[in-house]
Amino acid sequence: MERSFKKEVQALKLGGGDTFHGEGILAVTKALLQSGVSYVGGYQGAPVSHLLDVLVDAKDIMSDLGVHLETCSNEASAAAMLGASINYPLRGAVTWKSIVGTNVAADALSNLASPGVVGGAMIILGEDYGEGASVIQERSYAYALKSSMWLLDPRPDLPSIVRTVEKGFELSEASHAPVMLELRIRACHATGEFAAKDNRKGVVSGLDKLAGPPRFDYGRLAHPPVIFTQEKLKIEERLPAARAFIREHKLNELIDGDLSDVGIVVMGGLTNSVLRALERLGLADVFGASRVPMLVLNVVYPLVPEEIREFCATKRAVLVVEEGNPDYIEQAVNVELRRADIQTRVFGKGMLPSAGEYASDVLLKGLAAFFTGARPDGLDADVIAAKAHGLLAQKAKATAALGTLPARPPTFCTGCPERPVFSAIKLVQREIGPTHISGDIGCHAFATFAPFSLGNSILGYGMSLASAAAVTPNMERRPIAVMGDGGFWHNGLITGVASNLFNKGDGVLIVMQNGYASATGQQYIPSSAASKEGPAPGMDIEQTLRAMGVKWLRTVRTYGVATMVKTLKEAMRTAERGLKVIIADGECQLARQRRVRAEDAEKLKRGERVTRTRYGVDDEICTGDHSCIRLSGCPSLTVKPSPDPLRTDPVATVIESCVGCGLCGEVAHAAVLCPSFYRAEIVRNATWRDRALHWFRLTVIGWLGGYSGKAVAKAAS
Ligand code: SF4
Ligand code: SF4
Repeated sequence: MERSFKKEVQALKLGGGDTFHGEGILAVTKALLQSGVSYVGGYQGAPVSHLLDVLVDAKDIMSDLGVHLETCSNEASAAAMLGASINYPLRGAVTWKSIVGTNVAADALSNLASPGVVGGAMIILGEDYGEGASVIQERSYAYALKSSMWLLDPRPDLPSIVRTVEKGFELSEASHAPVMLELRIRACHATGEFAAKDNRKGVVSGLDKLAGPPRFDYGRLAHPPVIFTQEKLKIEERLPAARAFIREHKLNELIDGDLSDVGIVVMGGLTNSVLRALERLGLADVFGASRVPMLVLNVVYPLVPEEIREFCATKRAVLVVEEGNPDYIEQAVNVELRRADIQTRVFGKGMLPSAGEYASDVLLKGLAAFFTGARPDGLDADVIAAKAHGLLAQKAKATAALGTLPARPPTFCTGCPERPVFSAIKLVQREIGPTHISGDIGCHAFATFAPFSLGNSILGYGMSLASAAAVTPNMERRPIAVMGDGGFWHNGLITGVASNLFNKGDGVLIVMQNGYASATGQQYIPSSAASKEGPAPGMDIEQTLRAMGVKWLRTVRTYGVATMVKTLKEAMRTAERGLKVIIADGECQLARQRRVRAEDAEKLKRGERVTRTRYGVDDEICTGDHSCIRLSGCPSLTVKPSPDPLRTDPVATVIESCVGCGLCGEVAHAAVLCPSFYRAEIVRNATWRDRALHWFRLTVIGWLGGYSGKAVAKAAS
């Protein structure tokens, strides 16, 4: 795993009277334990990968409480786990990245929301929206609306997050509906403190098991004809019950302010950003006191009509701060005010953009526009607008002073085993011409950036082969689908491979077997060489494919570029029809380095011999055409001025971060580039044999170079 939380999880043992300090994501875990959950599960993905990692690291604490933990094979299996709360008073929580994970889980979620739940069921969504997001920009809100699941969006401070988790379970039970809790990246990593409570065992758990199932109740199934009754229950019973609970327990917050003829209705998760923008305008302080009254929606769905009416009735104008599109909340506020014949003017989209993250500058502009439009009593809106303008101009000035900075696209890690595969694809395309590359989710998607710029479509996690299904019969050359081993187990096995075999498809599939779900932090997957508990689960990709009927199957070490080129050419040209799979085998270098470096440090401490491989470029031989950089893209391979005063072109050079994967040498060989690469072994705690060999080599080199024996001996010492 990318990061171990072994130390931090000790905070999960805190009880009443203690103060918890830490990150938001750890606070959520503590809140789950304080809420008496009986089961937890999920599928990793930013920004909630660490939630699952914390749960895995806290397994011992959870078994003391009888909590079952499942690291699910995808989001659909995590959502289906919540089925335990349909019949039994079991509280459970699952987590994944949204919107993509919610899409995968959608079927199970609909079938969960229709019969409803007895035990509290919570889905913790990593709402990956805004700058730095890695998925399509859509909102989870639509799922809450269509399935009648309540959507919590806590203000990103730890006491609010913890209270929302605890109250979320009560809300779920009071209204018999699942709840979703969305956490943006800032909420996950916000640090703070809250007063801890004792952890609780679930009413039913692994320690106090159920005696058996309840009496058969057809109404608990999402099946006709009860689905018609369930639809009515959602609207006639669960929704009013949820609204009553939200109002009674004050899940939404009111921040009072003296500019009482205007107000802001804000999604809970955006509260801190709005307060910060108000503070920059001199209308709030750093502790969260605001001159503008605010209605903080820690529950963004359902809205409580009475709360909206009460907040707006005394105001001439309100601004709805709702990130993303469509403007569900703004529309709902307008409808509610219309129904109640309240004439408050509603500002929202227009003052604020319809797309993109509401970062500080966006809010600054939007708030200034709102004050200019609403003209609150007791505030000179023109002064505020000038202030906003000045702040924004300052940033523009700083940007201009910096000039144009070079773009820094994300790329593979140094020594990544996936990079050589794309070097090979480039070399193959030089010979056979370009072909359609069907990309996927995972580290290999970095190949879409320079210097590879390979990939024509990305349709979802594990979807590359399926997304090439209609390309294959319509293109002269076979398309190449690239999929990670994480994607293979998540979805690709059935959606891609089974479908291709069933339809007697053709085409080429490359499975990157790096051993982990690497892009999300090196979590173990079914084919990993080990598991959290030690022994590997023993599922093997090659055996699985053979058992499914794949006939053309090769496993190639990724760093062997020449072999990879040969195998790819064969796959592209063979007359044999049917799916051709190349398993590109090479352990994630980041995970490998973490393991190897720790092992080497131990060896060095014990005084044992440790070697490290480095590659280098001979300045005198390098011609300066830089094909090696274009074909490998390794961040450790760069340029430096040529030491030869007669040559102006910079030469290639390998910097200290090189991990000695050998790709640059391999590429040079496979592409017949140049002989300037050399390989060196750096030996620490050298033995007498190493020293003798070194002395012997220097002596021979010295003789060949015509140096004296003395000089050689000096160099060797
Ligand atoms: S995390 Fe692993 S697989 Fe991903 S880019 Fe880095 S080395 Fe490659
Ligand atoms: S050997 Fe070459 S490709 Fe591999 S890490 Fe070093 S510089 Fe990069």
